[in-house]
Amino acid sequence: MTSKTSTSSNPVRLSSDCWRIADTCNVYVLQRGERAIAVDFGSGRWLARLPAMGIRHLDHVFLTHHHTDQCRGLLARKSWPFVIHAPAGEREFLSAEGVKPLNAAPPGGCPPSYDRLRYGGLGGVCYDMAGFSDQFWGSERIRFLHTPGHGRHACTVVADSQDGRQLAFCGDAVHAHATIWQPYHLEWDHWTGEGALAAWEGVQRLSGIKVDLLCPSHGPAIATNPASTLRLTARRLMALYLVKGQISAGERDRYIKPEVLTAGVRRILPHLFQFGSNGYLLLSDAGTAFVIDPFLDDMPALDELMRRLPGVRILATAATHYHWDHLDAAPLLRKRHGARFWLHPSLAEALSCRHWRPWLKPIPIIPDCLWPDQGTWKWEDYAFRIAHWPGQTWWHCVFMTEVDGRRVMFGGDSFQPPSRWNGTGGFCAANGSRFGARGFAGSARLAIRWRPDILACGHATYCRFSSSRFRKIERWAARAEAALKALCPDGDLRRHYYAATEFSDWPQARSR
Ligand SMILES: [Zn+2]
Ligand SMILES: [Zn+2]
Repeated sequence: MTSKTSTSSNPVRLSSDCWRIADTCNVYVLQRGERAIAVDFGSGRWLARLPAMGIRHLDHVFLTHHHTDQCRGLLARKSWPFVIHAPAGEREFLSAEGVKPLNAAPPGGCPPSYDRLRYGGLGGVCYDMAGFSDQFWGSERIRFLHTPGHGRHACTVVADSQDGRQLAFCGDAVHAHATIWQPYHLEWDHWTGEGALAAWEGVQRLSGIKVDLLCPSHGPAIATNPASTLRLTARRLMALYLVKGQISAGERDRYIKPEVLTAGVRRILPHLFQFGSNGYLLLSDAGTAFVIDPFLDDMPALDELMRRLPGVRILATAATHYHWDHLDAAPLLRKRHGARFWLHPSLAEALSCRHWRPWLKPIPIIPDCLWPDQGTWKWEDYAFRIAHWPGQTWWHCVFMTEVDGRRVMFGGDSFQPPSRWNGTGGFCAANGSRFGARGFAGSARLAIRWRPDILACGHATYCRFSSSRFRKIERWAARAEAALKALCPDGDLRRHYYAATEFSDWPQARSR
Protein backbone atom coordinates (compact mmCIF):
# COMPACT_ATOMS: atom_id res chain seq x y z
CA MET A 1 0.00 0.00 0.00
CA THR A 2 1.34 3.41 -0.90
CA SER A 3 0.89 6.40 1.29
CA LYS A 4 0.69 10.07 0.51
CA THR A 5 4.06 10.70 2.11
CA SER A 6 5.96 7.86 0.47
CA THR A 7 8.62 8.67 -2.08
CA SER A 8 8.57 7.22 -5.56
CA SER A 9 9.98 3.73 -5.80
CA ASN A 10 12.48 2.60 -8.42
CA PRO A 11 10.99 2.35 -11.89
CA VAL A 12 10.03 -1.21 -12.82
CA ARG A 13 10.31 -2.10 -16.48
CA LEU A 14 7.12 -3.75 -17.76
CA SER A 15 8.28 -3.99 -21.36
CA SER A 16 11.10 -2.54 -23.45
CA ASP A 17 9.33 0.86 -23.49
CA CYS A 18 6.94 0.90 -20.51
CA TRP A 19 7.72 1.52 -16.86
CA ARG A 20 5.74 1.43 -13.64
CA ILE A 21 6.77 3.72 -10.78
CA ALA A 22 4.97 3.25 -7.49
CA ASP A 23 4.20 6.70 -6.11
CA THR A 24 1.05 7.85 -4.28
CA CYS A 25 -0.48 5.95 -7.19
CA ASN A 26 1.25 3.97 -9.91
CA VAL A 27 2.72 6.24 -12.54
CA TYR A 28 3.20 4.56 -15.91
CA VAL A 29 5.77 5.93 -18.32
CA LEU A 30 5.72 5.04 -22.01
CA GLN A 31 9.05 5.80 -23.69
CA ARG A 32 10.04 6.48 -27.29
CA GLY A 33 13.75 7.15 -27.32
CA GLU A 34 14.41 10.30 -25.33
CA ARG A 35 10.73 11.24 -25.25
CA ALA A 36 7.97 9.91 -23.03
CA ILE A 37 4.41 10.29 -21.88
CA ALA A 38 3.07 9.40 -18.43
CA VAL A 39 -0.24 8.14 -17.18
CA ASP A 40 -1.11 9.75 -13.83
CA PHE A 41 1.23 11.93 -11.83
CA GLY A 42 1.07 11.12 -8.11
CA SER A 43 3.48 13.26 -6.09
CA GLY A 44 5.67 14.06 -9.09
CA ARG A 45 8.81 12.94 -7.25
CA TRP A 46 9.37 10.36 -9.95
CA LEU A 47 10.22 13.14 -12.44
CA ALA A 48 13.73 13.16 -10.97
CA ARG A 49 14.20 9.58 -12.13
CA LEU A 50 13.56 10.25 -15.81
CA PRO A 51 17.14 11.20 -16.80
CA ALA A 52 18.46 7.91 -15.44
CA MET A 53 15.85 6.17 -17.59
CA GLY A 54 17.24 7.98 -20.64
CA ILE A 55 14.25 10.31 -20.90
CA ARG A 56 14.93 13.97 -21.66
CA HIS A 57 11.47 15.18 -22.67
CA LEU A 58 8.16 14.36 -21.03
CA ASP A 59 5.54 15.45 -23.58
CA HIS A 60 2.19 14.61 -21.99
CA VAL A 61 0.67 13.53 -18.67
CA PHE A 62 -2.71 11.80 -18.90
CA LEU A 63 -4.73 11.67 -15.68
CA THR A 64 -7.13 8.73 -15.49
CA HIS A 65 -9.31 10.54 -12.91
CA HIS A 66 -9.31 13.44 -10.47
CA HIS A 67 -8.50 11.71 -7.14
CA THR A 68 -5.72 13.46 -5.27
CA ASP A 69 -3.45 10.39 -5.20
CA GLN A 70 -3.33 10.67 -9.00
CA CYS A 71 -2.49 14.35 -9.28
CA ARG A 72 -1.62 16.08 -5.99
CA GLY A 73 1.97 16.83 -7.06
CA LEU A 74 0.73 18.94 -9.96
CA LEU A 75 -0.30 21.60 -7.43
CA ALA A 76 3.39 22.34 -6.78
CA ARG A 77 3.80 24.53 -9.88
CA LYS A 78 1.66 26.91 -11.86
CA SER A 79 2.93 25.64 -15.20
CA TRP A 80 4.71 22.52 -16.36
CA PRO A 81 6.84 21.75 -19.41
CA PHE A 82 4.37 19.08 -20.56
CA VAL A 83 0.70 19.05 -21.50
CA ILE A 84 -1.67 17.80 -18.81
CA HIS A 85 -4.78 15.99 -19.96
CA ALA A 86 -7.75 14.88 -17.90
CA PRO A 87 -11.02 13.15 -18.72
CA ALA A 88 -13.77 15.35 -20.06
CA GLY A 89 -15.98 16.30 -17.11
CA GLU A 90 -13.23 16.40 -14.46
CA ARG A 91 -12.90 20.19 -14.63
CA GLU A 92 -15.23 20.69 -11.65
CA PHE A 93 -12.88 18.62 -9.45
CA LEU A 94 -9.53 19.82 -10.73
CA SER A 95 -9.79 23.47 -11.78
CA ALA A 96 -9.67 26.35 -9.30
CA GLU A 97 -13.05 27.55 -10.63
CA GLY A 98 -14.53 24.12 -9.92
CA VAL A 99 -12.88 23.33 -6.59
CA LYS A 100 -14.01 26.49 -4.83
CA PRO A 101 -17.81 26.29 -5.23
CA LEU A 102 -17.73 22.52 -4.74
CA ASN A 103 -16.05 22.91 -1.37
CA ALA A 104 -18.25 25.81 -0.32
CA ALA A 105 -21.49 23.84 -0.46
CA PRO A 106 -21.81 21.29 2.33
CA PRO A 107 -23.18 18.00 1.00
CA GLY A 108 -26.25 16.49 2.62
CA GLY A 109 -25.80 12.95 1.43
CA CYS A 110 -22.73 11.42 -0.12
CA PRO A 111 -20.30 13.98 -1.54
CA PRO A 112 -19.72 14.32 -5.29
CA SER A 113 -16.24 12.89 -4.66
CA TYR A 114 -14.61 11.28 -1.62
CA ASP A 115 -11.12 12.36 -2.64
CA ARG A 116 -10.79 15.65 -4.41
CA LEU A 117 -8.67 18.77 -4.14
CA ARG A 118 -9.77 20.78 -1.12
CA TYR A 119 -8.13 24.01 -2.16
CA GLY A 120 -6.28 25.53 -5.11
CA GLY A 121 -6.75 23.84 -8.42
CA LEU A 122 -4.79 22.92 -11.48
CA GLY A 123 -4.31 25.39 -14.28
CA GLY A 124 -3.76 24.65 -17.94
CA VAL A 125 -5.34 21.20 -17.96
CA CYS A 126 -6.87 20.01 -21.23
CA TYR A 127 -10.11 18.19 -20.46
CA ASP A 128 -9.92 16.41 -23.74
CA MET A 129 -9.91 12.70 -22.85
CA ALA A 130 -13.33 11.62 -24.08
CA GLY A 131 -14.45 8.00 -24.21
CA PHE A 132 -13.97 6.31 -27.61
CA SER A 133 -11.67 9.12 -28.78
CA ASP A 134 -7.92 9.33 -29.29
CA GLN A 135 -4.99 11.71 -29.62
CA PHE A 136 -1.72 11.47 -31.50
CA TRP A 137 1.67 11.57 -29.86
CA GLY A 138 3.87 11.70 -32.92
CA SER A 139 2.56 8.77 -34.90
CA GLU A 140 1.41 6.93 -31.77
CA ARG A 141 -2.34 6.82 -31.28
CA ILE A 142 -3.32 7.16 -27.60
CA ARG A 143 -6.91 5.96 -27.08
CA PHE A 144 -9.41 6.59 -24.31
CA LEU A 145 -12.16 4.37 -22.98
CA HIS A 146 -14.70 5.64 -20.47
CA THR A 147 -14.34 3.43 -17.39
CA PRO A 148 -16.22 5.22 -14.58
CA GLY A 149 -16.36 4.06 -10.98
CA HIS A 150 -13.72 6.15 -9.24
CA GLY A 151 -15.80 9.10 -10.29
CA ARG A 152 -18.19 9.51 -13.16
CA HIS A 153 -15.62 10.57 -15.73
CA ALA A 154 -12.68 8.21 -15.18
CA CYS A 155 -10.98 6.91 -18.30
CA THR A 156 -8.66 4.10 -19.32
CA VAL A 157 -5.75 5.04 -21.55
CA VAL A 158 -4.97 2.46 -24.25
CA ALA A 159 -1.63 2.46 -26.06
CA ASP A 160 0.70 0.03 -27.83
CA SER A 161 4.14 -1.03 -26.75
CA GLN A 162 6.81 -1.41 -29.38
CA ASP A 163 6.77 -5.18 -28.98
CA GLY A 164 3.17 -5.12 -30.29
CA ARG A 165 1.35 -5.57 -27.00
CA GLN A 166 -1.83 -3.61 -26.25
CA LEU A 167 -1.52 -1.78 -22.93
CA ALA A 168 -4.49 -0.57 -20.89
CA PHE A 169 -3.76 1.99 -18.14
CA CYS A 170 -7.05 1.54 -16.34
CA GLY A 171 -6.76 3.86 -13.34
CA ASP A 172 -8.87 2.47 -10.49
CA ALA A 173 -11.37 0.68 -12.74
CA VAL A 174 -9.72 -2.63 -11.85
CA HIS A 175 -7.24 -3.79 -9.23
CA ALA A 176 -5.28 -7.05 -8.99
CA HIS A 177 -7.24 -10.25 -8.25
CA ALA A 178 -10.40 -8.80 -9.78
CA THR A 179 -11.00 -6.31 -6.97
CA ILE A 180 -11.53 -2.55 -6.72
CA TRP A 181 -9.19 -0.18 -4.91
CA GLN A 182 -11.22 1.61 -2.19
CA PRO A 183 -14.59 0.35 -3.45
CA TYR A 184 -16.50 3.00 -1.47
CA HIS A 185 -15.74 5.34 -4.36
CA LEU A 186 -18.42 3.41 -6.26
CA GLU A 187 -21.02 4.79 -3.84
CA TRP A 188 -22.03 7.89 -5.77
CA ASP A 189 -24.99 8.29 -3.43
CA HIS A 190 -26.01 6.69 -0.15
CA TRP A 191 -28.23 3.96 -1.50
CA THR A 192 -28.35 3.20 -5.24
CA GLY A 193 -26.09 0.95 -7.29
CA GLU A 194 -25.57 3.64 -9.93
CA GLY A 195 -21.79 3.79 -9.46
CA ALA A 196 -21.43 0.00 -9.38
CA LEU A 197 -23.48 -0.33 -12.56
CA ALA A 198 -21.46 2.34 -14.37
CA ALA A 199 -18.24 0.63 -13.23
CA TRP A 200 -19.56 -2.70 -14.49
CA GLU A 201 -20.31 -1.17 -17.88
CA GLY A 202 -16.82 0.35 -18.07
CA VAL A 203 -15.12 -2.94 -17.24
CA GLN A 204 -17.35 -4.71 -19.79
CA ARG A 205 -16.24 -2.13 -22.35
CA LEU A 206 -12.62 -2.73 -21.46
CA SER A 207 -13.01 -6.50 -21.60
CA GLY A 208 -14.34 -6.09 -25.12
CA ILE A 209 -10.83 -5.34 -26.37
CA LYS A 210 -7.78 -7.55 -26.24
CA VAL A 211 -5.58 -6.35 -23.38
CA ASP A 212 -2.10 -7.82 -23.04
CA LEU A 213 -1.04 -5.82 -20.02
CA LEU A 214 -3.53 -4.28 -17.60
CA CYS A 215 -1.96 -1.42 -15.66
CA PRO A 216 -4.01 -0.29 -12.61
CA SER A 217 -3.35 2.78 -10.50
CA HIS A 218 -2.58 0.73 -7.41
CA GLY A 219 -0.95 -2.67 -6.94
CA PRO A 220 0.82 -4.76 -9.55
CA ALA A 221 0.30 -4.71 -13.31
CA ILE A 222 -1.65 -7.70 -14.56
CA ALA A 223 0.06 -9.63 -17.36
CA THR A 224 -1.37 -13.08 -16.75
CA ASN A 225 -4.74 -13.49 -18.41
CA PRO A 226 -6.04 -9.91 -17.96
CA ALA A 227 -9.24 -10.97 -19.74
CA SER A 228 -10.24 -13.30 -16.92
CA THR A 229 -9.47 -10.59 -14.33
CA LEU A 230 -11.74 -8.21 -16.24
CA ARG A 231 -14.54 -10.79 -16.56
CA LEU A 232 -14.44 -11.65 -12.85
CA THR A 233 -14.30 -7.95 -11.86
CA ALA A 234 -17.38 -7.31 -14.02
CA ARG A 235 -19.24 -10.21 -12.35
CA ARG A 236 -18.37 -8.87 -8.90
CA LEU A 237 -19.46 -5.36 -9.82
CA MET A 238 -22.77 -6.72 -11.07
CA ALA A 239 -23.18 -8.65 -7.81
CA LEU A 240 -22.70 -5.38 -5.89
CA TYR A 241 -25.19 -3.62 -8.14
CA LEU A 242 -27.77 -6.36 -7.51
CA VAL A 243 -27.46 -6.28 -3.70
CA LYS A 244 -27.86 -2.49 -3.91
CA GLY A 245 -31.31 -3.33 -5.31
CA GLN A 246 -34.30 -5.12 -3.76
CA ILE A 247 -33.61 -6.68 -0.34
CA SER A 248 -36.74 -8.86 -0.07
CA ALA A 249 -37.72 -9.82 -3.59
CA GLY A 250 -41.28 -10.93 -4.18
CA GLU A 251 -42.83 -9.45 -1.03
CA ARG A 252 -45.90 -7.25 -0.72
CA ASP A 253 -45.77 -3.77 0.80
CA ARG A 254 -48.42 -4.58 3.46
CA TYR A 255 -49.24 -0.90 3.90
CA ILE A 256 -51.72 0.04 6.61
CA LYS A 257 -54.55 2.37 5.62
CA PRO A 258 -54.69 5.39 7.91
CA GLU A 259 -57.50 7.84 8.51
CA VAL A 260 -56.44 10.92 6.54
CA LEU A 261 -57.08 14.04 8.64
CA THR A 262 -55.41 16.58 6.33
CA ALA A 263 -52.90 16.24 3.50
CA GLY A 264 -50.03 16.10 5.98
CA VAL A 265 -51.66 14.44 9.00
CA ARG A 266 -52.89 10.86 9.28
CA ARG A 267 -54.24 8.82 12.17
CA ILE A 268 -52.89 5.24 12.20
CA LEU A 269 -54.39 4.16 15.55
CA PRO A 270 -56.57 6.12 18.01
CA HIS A 271 -53.41 7.17 19.89
CA LEU A 272 -50.90 7.20 17.01
CA PHE A 273 -50.56 9.88 14.32
CA GLN A 274 -48.15 10.39 11.45
CA PHE A 275 -47.41 13.93 10.27
CA GLY A 276 -45.36 15.47 7.49
CA SER A 277 -42.66 13.42 5.83
CA ASN A 278 -41.10 11.76 8.88
CA GLY A 279 -42.85 12.46 12.17
CA TYR A 280 -45.01 10.33 14.45
CA LEU A 281 -46.95 11.55 17.46
CA LEU A 282 -47.94 9.18 20.24
CA LEU A 283 -50.72 10.38 22.50
CA SER A 284 -51.13 9.39 26.15
CA ASP A 285 -54.41 9.19 28.03
CA ALA A 286 -53.09 11.97 30.27
CA GLY A 287 -53.24 14.38 27.30
CA THR A 288 -49.52 14.49 26.67
CA ALA A 289 -47.60 13.64 23.53
CA PHE A 290 -44.33 12.01 22.50
CA VAL A 291 -42.98 13.06 19.08
CA ILE A 292 -40.79 10.67 17.12
CA ASP A 293 -38.34 11.84 14.44
CA PRO A 294 -39.00 15.59 14.58
CA PHE A 295 -37.92 17.26 11.31
CA LEU A 296 -38.03 21.03 10.84
CA ASP A 297 -39.76 20.71 7.46
CA ASP A 298 -42.57 18.80 9.21
CA MET A 299 -43.34 21.47 11.81
CA PRO A 300 -46.25 23.04 9.85
CA ALA A 301 -47.88 19.58 9.70
CA LEU A 302 -47.26 19.12 13.44
CA ASP A 303 -48.85 22.52 14.12
CA GLU A 304 -51.84 21.38 12.09
CA LEU A 305 -52.07 18.18 14.13
CA MET A 306 -51.76 20.07 17.44
CA ARG A 307 -54.69 22.29 16.44
CA ARG A 308 -56.75 19.10 16.30
CA LEU A 309 -55.51 18.03 19.74
CA PRO A 310 -56.43 21.04 21.92
CA GLY A 311 -54.83 21.03 25.34
CA VAL A 312 -52.28 18.33 24.46
CA ARG A 313 -48.70 19.06 25.53
CA ILE A 314 -45.59 17.60 23.85
CA LEU A 315 -43.46 16.38 26.73
CA ALA A 316 -40.92 14.17 25.00
CA THR A 317 -39.22 13.65 21.67
CA ALA A 318 -36.76 11.08 20.32
CA ALA A 319 -35.13 10.01 17.06
CA THR A 320 -34.53 6.71 15.31
CA HIS A 321 -31.20 7.77 13.80
CA TYR A 322 -28.89 10.75 13.53
CA HIS A 323 -29.83 11.96 10.01
CA TRP A 324 -30.98 15.53 10.33
CA ASP A 325 -34.33 14.90 8.66
CA HIS A 326 -35.17 12.78 11.72
CA LEU A 327 -34.18 15.07 14.57
CA ASP A 328 -33.30 18.63 13.68
CA ALA A 329 -36.55 19.99 15.17
CA ALA A 330 -35.80 18.54 18.63
CA PRO A 331 -34.32 21.83 19.94
CA LEU A 332 -37.41 23.67 18.68
CA LEU A 333 -39.78 21.27 20.47
CA ARG A 334 -37.73 21.74 23.62
CA LYS A 335 -37.94 25.52 23.30
CA ARG A 336 -41.61 25.72 22.34
CA HIS A 337 -43.11 22.92 24.42
CA GLY A 338 -40.45 22.07 26.99
CA ALA A 339 -40.16 18.61 25.43
CA ARG A 340 -37.28 16.51 26.74
CA PHE A 341 -35.09 15.10 23.98
CA TRP A 342 -34.27 11.43 24.54
CA LEU A 343 -31.54 9.79 22.55
CA HIS A 344 -30.02 6.36 22.08
CA PRO A 345 -26.29 6.39 22.98
CA SER A 346 -25.26 5.47 19.43
CA LEU A 347 -27.04 8.56 18.08
CA ALA A 348 -25.48 10.76 20.72
CA GLU A 349 -22.11 9.45 19.59
CA ALA A 350 -22.85 10.35 15.96
CA LEU A 351 -24.10 13.83 16.91
CA SER A 352 -20.92 14.57 18.83
CA CYS A 353 -18.72 13.44 15.93
CA ARG A 354 -16.34 15.97 14.46
CA HIS A 355 -16.09 14.12 11.15
CA TRP A 356 -18.29 14.77 8.22
CA ARG A 357 -21.05 12.19 7.84
CA PRO A 358 -24.03 12.08 5.50
CA TRP A 359 -26.87 14.23 6.84
CA LEU A 360 -25.10 15.11 10.04
CA LYS A 361 -26.36 18.53 11.03
CA PRO A 362 -23.39 20.91 10.99
CA ILE A 363 -24.52 22.48 14.27
CA PRO A 364 -24.52 20.69 17.62
CA ILE A 365 -27.75 19.01 18.74
CA ILE A 366 -27.52 17.95 22.36
CA PRO A 367 -29.88 15.45 24.01
CA ASP A 368 -31.44 16.01 27.44
CA CYS A 369 -31.35 12.35 28.48
CA LEU A 370 -29.86 9.14 27.18
CA TRP A 371 -31.68 5.84 26.79
CA PRO A 372 -29.94 2.61 27.67
CA ASP A 373 -28.06 0.98 24.80
CA GLN A 374 -30.43 -1.97 25.19
CA GLY A 375 -33.28 -2.10 27.67
CA THR A 376 -36.58 -0.54 28.62
CA TRP A 377 -37.97 2.95 29.04
CA LYS A 378 -41.29 4.13 30.36
CA TRP A 379 -43.07 7.21 29.12
CA GLU A 380 -46.49 7.92 30.70
CA ASP A 381 -48.36 4.60 30.44
CA TYR A 382 -46.25 3.28 27.59
CA ALA A 383 -43.51 0.74 28.25
CA PHE A 384 -40.86 0.71 25.53
CA ARG A 385 -38.23 -1.80 24.54
CA ILE A 386 -35.15 -0.12 23.13
CA ALA A 387 -32.20 -1.48 21.15
CA HIS A 388 -29.35 -0.47 18.89
CA TRP A 389 -30.58 -1.28 15.37
CA PRO A 390 -27.78 -0.77 12.86
CA GLY A 391 -28.66 -0.96 9.19
CA GLN A 392 -28.94 2.06 6.92
CA THR A 393 -26.51 3.65 9.34
CA TRP A 394 -24.55 2.32 12.29
CA TRP A 395 -25.94 5.15 14.44
CA HIS A 396 -29.52 3.91 14.49
CA CYS A 397 -31.91 2.51 17.09
CA VAL A 398 -35.36 0.95 17.37
CA PHE A 399 -38.04 1.24 20.03
CA MET A 400 -41.30 -0.61 20.43
CA THR A 401 -44.37 -0.19 22.61
CA GLU A 402 -48.00 -1.29 22.65
CA VAL A 403 -50.44 1.27 21.25
CA ASP A 404 -54.18 0.53 21.30
CA GLY A 405 -53.43 -3.18 21.62
CA ARG A 406 -50.90 -3.30 18.77
CA ARG A 407 -47.15 -3.67 19.09
CA VAL A 408 -45.70 -0.70 17.18
CA MET A 409 -42.01 -0.68 16.30
CA PHE A 410 -40.49 2.70 15.41
CA GLY A 411 -37.78 1.74 12.97
CA GLY A 412 -36.51 4.77 11.04
CA ASP A 413 -34.83 4.09 7.73
CA SER A 414 -33.11 0.71 7.98
CA PHE A 415 -36.10 -1.10 6.54
CA GLN A 416 -38.88 0.17 4.31
CA PRO A 417 -41.75 -1.51 2.45
CA PRO A 418 -40.44 -3.26 -0.70
CA SER A 419 -41.74 -0.64 -3.12
CA ARG A 420 -39.97 2.16 -1.21
CA TRP A 421 -36.28 2.29 -2.17
CA ASN A 422 -36.01 -1.47 -2.69
CA GLY A 423 -37.10 -2.11 0.89
CA THR A 424 -34.39 -0.16 2.72
CA GLY A 425 -32.94 3.30 3.16
CA GLY A 426 -29.89 1.67 1.61
CA PHE A 427 -26.34 1.06 2.68
CA CYS A 428 -23.06 2.88 2.15
CA ALA A 429 -19.65 3.07 3.76
CA ALA A 430 -20.05 6.72 4.78
CA ASN A 431 -23.16 5.81 6.80
CA GLY A 432 -21.20 3.04 8.50
CA SER A 433 -23.76 0.49 7.27
CA ARG A 434 -22.96 -3.03 8.44
CA PHE A 435 -24.38 -6.40 7.55
CA GLY A 436 -23.70 -9.18 10.05
CA ALA A 437 -24.87 -9.84 13.60
CA ARG A 438 -24.29 -6.16 14.42
CA GLY A 439 -25.81 -4.89 11.20
CA PHE A 440 -28.72 -5.58 8.86
CA ALA A 441 -28.84 -9.33 9.64
CA GLY A 442 -28.82 -8.87 13.42
CA SER A 443 -31.42 -6.11 13.15
CA ALA A 444 -33.65 -8.33 10.99
CA ARG A 445 -33.33 -11.11 13.59
CA LEU A 446 -34.24 -8.70 16.38
CA ALA A 447 -37.40 -7.69 14.51
CA ILE A 448 -38.32 -11.35 14.12
CA ARG A 449 -37.83 -11.85 17.87
CA TRP A 450 -39.84 -8.77 18.85
CA ARG A 451 -42.66 -9.61 16.40
CA PRO A 452 -44.21 -6.15 16.05
CA ASP A 453 -47.68 -5.84 14.56
CA ILE A 454 -46.85 -2.54 12.91
CA LEU A 455 -43.55 -1.25 11.59
CA ALA A 456 -43.65 2.54 11.76
CA CYS A 457 -40.74 3.46 9.48
CA GLY A 458 -39.25 6.77 8.49
CA HIS A 459 -40.59 8.77 5.56
CA ALA A 460 -44.23 8.09 6.46
CA THR A 461 -44.18 4.40 5.64
CA TYR A 462 -46.07 2.24 8.12
CA CYS A 463 -46.90 -1.34 7.33
CA ARG A 464 -47.68 -4.74 8.80
CA PHE A 465 -44.68 -6.77 9.86
CA SER A 466 -43.93 -10.15 8.29
CA SER A 467 -41.25 -12.41 9.72
CA SER A 468 -40.87 -14.30 6.43
CA ARG A 469 -39.86 -11.02 4.78
CA PHE A 470 -37.26 -10.38 7.46
CA ARG A 471 -35.82 -13.86 7.02
CA LYS A 472 -35.31 -12.94 3.34
CA ILE A 473 -33.62 -9.74 4.47
CA GLU A 474 -31.27 -11.76 6.67
CA ARG A 475 -30.19 -13.79 3.64
CA TRP A 476 -29.83 -10.63 1.56
CA ALA A 477 -27.54 -9.13 4.22
CA ALA A 478 -25.19 -12.10 3.89
CA ARG A 479 -25.13 -11.67 0.09
CA ALA A 480 -24.53 -7.94 0.39
CA GLU A 481 -21.57 -8.40 2.72
CA ALA A 482 -20.10 -11.13 0.51
CA ALA A 483 -20.44 -8.92 -2.58
CA LEU A 484 -18.53 -6.10 -0.91
CA LYS A 485 -15.84 -8.37 0.52
CA ALA A 486 -15.26 -9.91 -2.89
CA LEU A 487 -14.44 -6.45 -4.26
CA CYS A 488 -12.09 -5.41 -1.43
CA PRO A 489 -8.42 -6.02 -2.32
CA ASP A 490 -7.82 -8.39 0.61
CA GLY A 491 -11.42 -8.94 1.66
CA ASP A 492 -10.94 -6.50 4.53
CA LEU A 493 -14.00 -4.24 4.71
CA ARG A 494 -12.67 -2.22 7.60
CA ARG A 495 -9.54 -1.20 5.76
CA HIS A 496 -10.84 -0.76 2.23
CA TYR A 497 -14.53 0.08 2.61
CA TYR A 498 -15.19 1.79 5.94
CA ALA A 499 -12.16 4.03 5.46
CA ALA A 500 -14.72 6.30 3.74
CA THR A 501 -16.14 7.31 7.12
CA GLU A 502 -12.90 8.80 8.38
CA PHE A 503 -12.98 12.16 6.67
CA SER A 504 -11.82 14.63 9.28
CA ASP A 505 -10.57 17.18 6.77
CA TRP A 506 -13.89 17.98 5.15
CA PRO A 507 -14.13 21.78 5.16
CA GLN A 508 -17.45 21.79 6.98
CA ALA A 509 -16.36 19.20 9.55
CA ARG A 510 -17.65 20.78 12.73
CA SER A 511 -15.47 22.36 15.31
CA ARG A 512 -16.70 22.13 18.83
ZN1 LIG B 1 -9.06 6.70 -7.40
ZN1 LIG C 1 -31.97 8.10 7.20
